[in-house]
Amino acid sequence: MKTAMLVDASKCLGCRACQVACKQWNDLPAEDTRNGGTYQNPPDLSADTLTLVRFREVERADRVDWLTYPWRCMHCTEAACVAACPTGALFHDGRGFVRLDASRCTGCGYCAMFCPFNVPRLRVDTLSGSGKMSKCTFCQDRVHNGELPACAKTCPSGAIRFGDRENLVAVGSARVGELTKAGFAQASLYGQDILGGLGVMYVLTDDPEVYGLPAEPRMPPMLYLWRRVTRPLGGIAVGAAALGLAVNFFIARRRIRAEEVAHD
Ligand code: SF4
Ligand code: SF4
Repeated sequence: MKTAMLVDASKCLGCRACQVACKQWNDLPAEDTRNGGTYQNPPDLSADTLTLVRFREVERADRVDWLTYPWRCMHCTEAACVAACPTGALFHDGRGFVRLDASRCTGCGYCAMFCPFNVPRLRVDTLSGSGKMSKCTFCQDRVHNGELPACAKTCPSGAIRFGDRENLVAVGSARVGELTKAGFAQASLYGQDILGGLGVMYVLTDDPEVYGLPAEPRMPPMLYLWRRVTRPLGGIAVGAAALGLAVNFFIARRRIRAEEVAHD
């Protein structure tokens, strides 16, 4: 069974309960915020904000509409981050979630460079200077114990649903039908087929761009060059560096051993 999340943006209140629940479950701190003249605060995802409620102010002929929805990793089936990661730290699990094994992450940033949604964020350890990427995990530790992700569990309006993907596609399509009948001619289910099918789908009342979502995100063409040419060359360079270190190690060992024998 492929599992997914359905976010019905038409039901989102913009209360930020999901944003806070994500921080609470993942033990992430609050961030310093400032008034930037809109309700968008903090302004973007970060290593401490893995779920962000986006606020979009849309000027219509006779009013201003506030469109709100939670945004995070889309858990793409064709995931650029997985294809780009040189260490295998990003990978699909059996349910199709895109997981991050922090112990294998070197913080190189290639996943962030190629992600069509600009999601992964770097956390730098101030003591060691080393970095690890961060992104939504779909609360693996909760889901594998039969619990909902923290955001879905918390949402007071029922805007976030989690479960069998096929069922959620049916629910989302039915909701789009209701919205269309209610006068939202541009209503759509976003993510059903994008990039092989997103793990996070959205019911939208307007075009994706109005929500700040790319209409047709694709695997970046540069990624193919990176996979076929640059990454293998990088592998050769890493291999050569490792060989060099090994040779240096053995030469040093032989010299130390020779000095020890000379002193005996
Ligand atoms: S949204 Fe970006 S980080 Fe998340 S799975 Fe897709 S490519 Fe990877
Ligand atoms: S908890 Fe639900 S209603 Fe509140 S901001 Fe998140 S998705 Fe919207």
